[in-house]
Amino acid sequence: MHMSRIEWIVAVSVYLLVAGAGLYVFERSRNSQAEVTCQSSMGMLANAIFKYAKDHDHHLPSARNWWSDIYPKYCHEDDPCPKAHRSSGVAYAMSAELSGVDVRTIEHPDRVILLYEACNGVPEYRHRGGMNVAYADGHRAWIPRPKQEDFR
Ligand SMILES: [Zn+2]
Repeated sequence: MHMSRIEWIVAVSVYLLVAGAGLYVFERSRNSQAEVTCQSSMGMLANAIFKYAKDHDHHLPSARNWWSDIYPKYCHEDDPCPKAHRSSGVAYAMSAELSGVDVRTIEHPDRVILLYEACNGVPEYRHRGGMNVAYADGHRAWIPRPKQEDFR
């Protein structure tokens, strides 16, 4: 059976379309898996920060030293975002606005960012052009861009 030129073009186009769609779905599921892992790491870190605060008269660690304040005493695993560069240190940053703050004085902990994705303090958009954040009540979310009012 011989295929005409048109049939070939149609066959190749359909093949490319199907392959492209498959790759897209694969990429998407791989990305969302990284996002889930990242959010669970952030949840662990937020919990460790809250445990630290409990032991320190409700005060959060300093934004500069939060990692060495919680690791390894309150958090035993160094499980960064799968999309972060392994060699660049801690994959997240703590909000400077909450440095050393008494957690009881945070007015809307569900709206104030505690942790965000960063490399050396510089925000990094690792997931779908946005980033994961952990709020001061411990819940996590993906956001496109943090706004100034998200930090207190
Ligand atoms: Zn991440």
